[in-house]
Amino acid sequence: MAQGLLLVISGPSGVGKGTICKALRERNHEIVYSISATTRLPRPGEVDGVSYYFLSPQEFLEALEKGDFLEWAQVYGNYYGTPAWFVEEQLAVGRNVILEIDMQGAMKVKQTYPHGVFIFVLPPSQEELARRLIGRCTDAKDVIAKRLAAWKEEMKTIDNYDYAVVNDEVELAVKKIEAIIEAERCRVARRNRD
Ligand code: ADP
Ligand code: 5GP
Repeated sequence: MAQGLLLVISGPSGVGKGTICKALRERNHEIVYSISATTRLPRPGEVDGVSYYFLSPQEFLEALEKGDFLEWAQVYGNYYGTPAWFVEEQLAVGRNVILEIDMQGAMKVKQTYPHGVFIFVLPPSQEELARRLIGRCTDAKDVIAKRLAAWKEEMKTIDNYDYAVVNDEVELAVKKIEAIIEAERCRVARRNRD
């Protein structure tokens, strides 16, 4: 059986990664989403085991020591990590797996999965990014400020990615990622590998 594609999606906070990934999964049932672990507190409406596995710092550390994570990083003051077992299991049965993770984590994944597809999502402008972060109404003012302050540095990592997708309209951004998936499936190198 052919291995699935590992899709790694990064971008500044508030750019629309979560929105795009949700739409992608709704439209493409062969795509599965890797639920990360985090020490961040749940936002209103977030459900443990669905949005994230919400762990205490102690629980996160224990999982880390057991070698449970494919990658992990400290992002905006909290810890986040990708459970390794899910990714391995799903790729092996031919499913395409999405990781929605930060730029440090993405580069760690590249070491383990050099054939992954690395996609950076961009905002149409800095002003629009701020509008989205504020408009989401999920974070305190200081949290929003910290996330906005990071985006210029985050943008500098874009050369490590294979594709840049501007999220002007969700529908268009999703279509571009679907086109990337189709093109990647047709790669001769991938065909020879599987
Ligand atoms: P991220 O996961 O990258 O932090 P979200 O998916 O939570 O970002 O999106 C942040 C906010 O921006 C949400 O309120 C979402 O509804 C909105 N949003 C996402 N994509 C677009 C878009 N293309 N145009 C306008 N608003 C958007
Ligand atoms: P949020 O707190 O808004 O849900 O996520 C904050 C940041 O953490 C985002 O950039 C998101 O992509 C990143 N993130 C979420 N899960 C993981 C993960 O498992 N590993 C890494 N490295 N980053 C993650």
